[in-house]
Amino acid sequence: MNCVIFGAPGSGKGTQAAALCEAFQMVHVSTGDMLREAVRNGTELGKKAQALMADGKLVPDELVGGIVREKILNLVGQGKGILFDGYPRNLDQAKFLDACLTEAGSQIDAVAVLDLDPAVLVKRICGRRLCTKPGCTGAFNIHFMPSKQEGVCDLCGSPLQQRKDDNEETLKERLAVYNSQSLPSLEYYDQKDLLIRVNADDKVESVRAALLGGIRAKCGCNKGCCA
Ligand code: AMP
Repeated sequence: MNCVIFGAPGSGKGTQAAALCEAFQMVHVSTGDMLREAVRNGTELGKKAQALMADGKLVPDELVGGIVREKILNLVGQGKGILFDGYPRNLDQAKFLDACLTEAGSQIDAVAVLDLDPAVLVKRICGRRLCTKPGCTGAFNIHFMPSKQEGVCDLCGSPLQQRKDDNEETLKERLAVYNSQSLPSLEYYDQKDLLIRVNADDKVESVRAALLGGIRAKCGCNKGCCA
């Protein structure tokens, strides 16, 4: 099964992605994570993406599309399902995603949208602190879910840090991009009857339950993944 988890920055996509991947045996593919890794490693892609990401702007479609296509061909080729997080972010990317999956002999089964009031997003994003250890999923919030020891990951003891683009000014731009480019692409999935809308302003467990139920109902592929 392949799904998209869709929502504004701070709507909880990353937190919910882990549970969805475990429940439906999908591999988490986050374009934001892949781009941040490219920046850290100083690759050509990273150099081109760095300033745009720091400004909260989208990286050009052809750059992100290249890494997404490679991932899809690789993972679907191994028989794995994928949870796309942060991709697609506009209508062209949604169409490109379909084309890549078709090329690989697969398709999107469900698109889960996390709906959240923008006022809540600001606190969620600006208070967010993430673990610096590669591969660790430790994610905290100084307002809503502080780590036991300030600045230290509860899961592995590594230092926590704030993402460079998690500040109020960049968030304004990221939200503007989301509203003007990403949200309109949902119409594409609505026409295909793939949308599941969930209120993300609820307890993590309640949001998770709503997502799991919605995806199970939508997929119904009879291959066992959504039983
Ligand atoms: P995220 O971690 O999903 O919030 O992404 C962080 C930043 O990476 C975004 O603000 C964009 O600059 C860039 N980015 C991530 N995914 C995409 C995408 N699908 N298309 C273009 N830029 C992206």
